[in-house]
Order: sequence, then structure tokens, then C-alpha cells
Amino acid sequence: QKNNSADISTSTLSSILEKNKHYYKDGAVADYIPELSKVNPVSVALSVVDNNGKIISVGDSNQKFTMQSVSKIIALMLAVMENSEESVFEKMGYYGTDRPFNHFANLETTGKPLNPMMNAGAILTTSLISGQGEEAFVKILEMIRYITNNPSINYSQAVYQSEKETGHRNRGMFYLMKNTGAITGSEEQLDNYFRQCSIEITTEDLAKIGYFFANQCTRYDGDRRYENSALAKLILSQMLIAGMYEFSGEYARTVGLPSKSGVGGGIVVSVPHRIGIGVFSPALDSHGNSLAGYHMILDLAKTYELSIF
Ligand code: GLN
Repeated sequence: QKNNSADISTSTLSSILEKNKHYYKDGAVADYIPELSKVNPVSVALSVVDNNGKIISVGDSNQKFTMQSVSKIIALMLAVMENSEESVFEKMGYYGTDRPFNHFANLETTGKPLNPMMNAGAILTTSLISGQGEEAFVKILEMIRYITNNPSINYSQAVYQSEKETGHRNRGMFYLMKNTGAITGSEEQLDNYFRQCSIEITTEDLAKIGYFFANQCTRYDGDRRYENSALAKLILSQMLIAGMYEFSGEYARTVGLPSKSGVGGGIVVSVPHRIGIGVFSPALDSHGNSLAGYHMILDLAKTYELSIF
């Protein structure tokens, strides 16, 4: 018998969290950005925005963490809104990948990032958002505040500084793309990428973002200011093919839902035309995806038959 996602209950979410939280022990908190290693590895949270826009949360759903690569979908949204889909994808590919998120991939040969979900593509995407200095970042932050209806969201100065000081691979990609002419601005554009990665959110914020893209860019409270089904389809397709990096294929097979992870330990999931899900557990697998987060999503998708396939 098929469960109805309108009937998602706190008690079911609670038992999914309890059953899967132990997986954090098999993962490791990211430490290549030193500031990230300070997080409490046992924190765990799961939130859902159901198809009536109701928020259901269990675990440490007030715990803030940095959104990291989840910010890449918001940057893509803004870059496409300002420049058109065609012009953005003249500069980068729609390819899936067998490479880790920080791989240079095709930059040396074709000069084009594989997709906007890997770092190279995301650094380019952010540079395509117009504005001087911090303006592109502020647009990303404001869009996240709008989607979550949460004006208190801000970024962590400490994580930002830590990324800026240690992000030499990202800096290398930035300068390779300056060399090809794909990027024309100054290193302030790379700083905007570091800032967007440092934005702090909760699983409730993530679930609202998941709901937004699942429902044609409409907000969980019914606000339709940015309604755009073509844009939502584009974002969901990118999440599906590359949102979990080189794990995306296996993730599509086992979970079957457009999702985007970040090395802060968050994963956002969109169940098209239905619900949004946000999970958090900071210990990661070898691909940089939250391990307990993945297992909670897998369990939830099975319990409610959420796979799109
Ligand atoms: N800020 C991180 C980086 O650039 C984001 C990576 C991620 O979340 N996968 O390395």
C-alpha cells in the first residue's frame, strides 16, 4: 500500500532519524576547510515541508551549519534569471561526472566546467551574476532569505575567512577560467563564492528550498513571486545528474530524487510537485556527502515511495 506524503508524521520521521543516525560513526567531518572541523559530529536533524507547506522537524533542527555547495543551486537560479539558460550553458556543460567536486576536469582542455554543481562550474556561475564587489553574494543571500522567508539568515565570517585562506584549488580554477576569458572580473568574484558557501542555515531552511524547486519556484507559504517551471526543471535536472557529484548515479538508483549536498553536512531534496526535505549530519562519506543524511533520505524515500522512477 502506497503511503501518502501528505501524511508524513513526526513519529515516522523520528524513528527514521533514530534508526540511521549511527551512520555518522562511519564518516568524517570535513577538515580541509579548518573551520568546518569544529562542528559537533553527533548533531543530526531532519525536516520536511509537506505538500500543504507544513513544516515537520525532528532532531537538532535549530542547529545552524554552513550550506556550502547547496548554495550552487541558488547561484545557478540567479545566473540563469539574469543571463538566460542558453548563455549560461554556452560556458559550461550539462555533464554528469565521475570526478570529485573539486576536480579540474575539462578546464585544461575545453576550458568549460563539466556542470554548475562542481566547484569550477559554480565559481563560474557566481561570476555571471552581475554587481560590484559583494553585490552578487548579497543577491544570493537575499534569494535564500526570500525562499525560506527567514530574514535572519547570514553567513559565518569565520568559515568565510577559513575558505578564503585555504581555498587554493578553487583559486586555481578561478584563474584558469580568467585565462580562457570565461571569467572577466577580479578575485572579488571568487570571494563571493566563498561567502555563499559560508551562509548558515538549518534543516528547516533546506526543506523550504527543496519545496521551492519541487514546486515550480513557489514558496512553501504559497507566495508565487518567482514562479517559473522551466527554471525549476533546469535546477532539478542538474541536482539529479550532478548534485551528489560522482555518487549521483548510484544515488539516482537508490533514492531517485533531485538532491544537492554540501560539505557542511546538509542535503536538500526535492520531491517534484510534492515536498521538500532537509537533512543534516556533518560526518561525510568519501564523496563529500553526509553519510547519515543519505541513509535518512534513503529510508524516507522507501517509506513514502518518493522516488521519481
Ligand atoms: N566550499 C566548499 C569548497 O569550495 C564547497 C564544496 C562542497 O560543499 N562540496 O570546497
